[in-house]
Amino acid sequence: MASRKNSAPVQPPPLPASAESALLETEGLFRAAQAIRDAPRVADICLELSAQCKALLDADRTAIFLVDTERSQIQLGVYDGHIVSDLDTTYDELCQGLSGSVIRTGKPVLSPSAGEGIEPPEIAGRRKPAGAGAVIAAPLAAKGQLIGTITVMSRLSGRPFTQHDVDLLMLLGMQSAIAIQSARLQEAEQDRRLISEALLHAGRKLSGGTTLSQVPGRILEQLSLVVPFERGSLMMREGNMLRIVAQRGFPDDTRVKEIRMPIREGDVFRRVETAAHPVLIHNVQDEPGWQQVEWLPLDLSWMGVPLFSQDQVIGMISLTRRKAAAFSLDDALLASTFALQAAIALENAGLYEEITRFNEQLEQMVQQRTEELNQALHTLERLDKNKSDFIGVAAHELRTPLTVMKGYMGMLETDPNIQNSAYLLQSVTGVVRGIERLHEIVNSMLDVVRIETQILDLHTEPTSIATIVKRIKADVEDVLAERQLTVDFSDLSKLPRIQADTTLLLKVFQNVIVNAIKYTPDGGRVSVSGQRLTDEKLGDCVEVQVRDTGIGIDPEALELIFEKFFQTGKAALHSTGKTTFKGGGPGLGLSIARGIVQAHGGRIWAESSGHDETACPGSCFHILLPVNTFSRTG
Ligand code: ADP
Repeated sequence: MASRKNSAPVQPPPLPASAESALLETEGLFRAAQAIRDAPRVADICLELSAQCKALLDADRTAIFLVDTERSQIQLGVYDGHIVSDLDTTYDELCQGLSGSVIRTGKPVLSPSAGEGIEPPEIAGRRKPAGAGAVIAAPLAAKGQLIGTITVMSRLSGRPFTQHDVDLLMLLGMQSAIAIQSARLQEAEQDRRLISEALLHAGRKLSGGTTLSQVPGRILEQLSLVVPFERGSLMMREGNMLRIVAQRGFPDDTRVKEIRMPIREGDVFRRVETAAHPVLIHNVQDEPGWQQVEWLPLDLSWMGVPLFSQDQVIGMISLTRRKAAAFSLDDALLASTFALQAAIALENAGLYEEITRFNEQLEQMVQQRTEELNQALHTLERLDKNKSDFIGVAAHELRTPLTVMKGYMGMLETDPNIQNSAYLLQSVTGVVRGIERLHEIVNSMLDVVRIETQILDLHTEPTSIATIVKRIKADVEDVLAERQLTVDFSDLSKLPRIQADTTLLLKVFQNVIVNAIKYTPDGGRVSVSGQRLTDEKLGDCVEVQVRDTGIGIDPEALELIFEKFFQTGKAALHSTGKTTFKGGGPGLGLSIARGIVQAHGGRIWAESSGHDETACPGSCFHILLPVNTFSRTG
């Protein structure tokens, strides 16, 4: 046991040299695979692959090409760890060398020296001056799909490559291809998200409160964020012409604004219109009949995108890029999705402008009409004032001679000579009645003027409506008998006294009751009834209804009859007399009645199913007066 404890630790036997280098190589490969896997983007993966090839294979130079075999395009070139932005090798040229063999067969090629005969002599001939010795070209392929080639070269004096190097390169190539595919998927996903966001953003920008003149410019501005282009123009169809309504990327030249192109059979617009989807031209120089505006720089790629309104092509977005084949099918798809939004924005802005214009016109018209109406109102007010002034002056002027006449006639009436002559007495009595009627009319005229100028003085006192109505009844008793009218003045004595100007209220009921008698044919019926009620606005009220079986009132005239001088029917046809059927009046009674009722804080209105002198539907006048004082003085 002790001897074992003290003995020296056992050393593992040294690895044979080949095993050690194999271990190192495996470690190197593992690290390379990790680095390639961790590179974030396609270009980074290519750069990493280039670096790892140099380290693991001791290669002197590397060249990586990512290709699109379907479109025969080189997508990316990386020479000796540098991305070449301006590649001078074309896809066709690439296919002539060793890479071409890889692209065609999908298999690696090892060419130890230029003299192997694998490459065409002119290409093999370039190796010596470039100092290249052995070359391996291997595919970058994943899941059976070739996406590129990698070529490694050693110096003329350098290490000749072996089959083992080919295997290593195949392994690195395969891992890189897988990493590139997955990075591409991620990039595509990111692009899609960015594009959706850009489309959404563009849609919002286009739909936000833009006028028609701004929309085309915004369309190109927003489109440039989704599909890159060097020059873009938006053309609208105007009959047989296309007119540029917005441009982007054009030289600062006034001629741009004047570009108008005739639409011709077979031209690009017609092609876009017929196809009803975007048209791509990869190289306009190969396009027979291409019309190049001579003062514009030549851009090789062209894309035309139709703009639709309903099913009609109303215009086109034309985009160019300097290089050939710069627009992809994805670009076309994006541009056409965008064009749908653009066309809607154009249409909306058009509608918006139309509505705005229409609104402006409408506003102008309304303003004009309001002015006209104001003027008419002003004229009417002036006329009305003239009328009121005239009534006032006329009434005052008439009153004095009437009073004088009344005085003399009073003297004559009592003169014994007249008293003794039946003929003279009848004549004088007739003249006195006429003067009284005239006096009443003149007083009514003065009442109207007072009401209109608001100088109606109310001398309120507790007033009994029953007493007022009784007085009127006594005044008209003879007439009622004469015209065989039935009257029903329901018991109004239960109504409370109201605070009112008795003299003025007498005029109200006189006018309304006399009207009821006047517009009811002989043999008809007039009834006056009353009730106490609570009105929503006036509170505790008395309502008196004057109902008749007369000729009725046209619904259209129910309000107009309260206007001064308003009379239904022809004034000339009215029979004369204060209480005769349809006896003429000056059309002031109801206007005065309303003025007085309103001065008491009440309401008056009429109801009737219509005017019919044969069927006599009758009318009902409502007079609503507050019980408690409402005194408007002044
Ligand atoms: P007038 O002096 O002409 O009677 P009013 O102002 O009293 O003037 O009445 C205006 C018009 O209202 C009358 O000309 C008449 O046509 C109509 N009117 C008034 N009361 C009645 C009624 N009870 N029945 C039918 N029409 C009436």
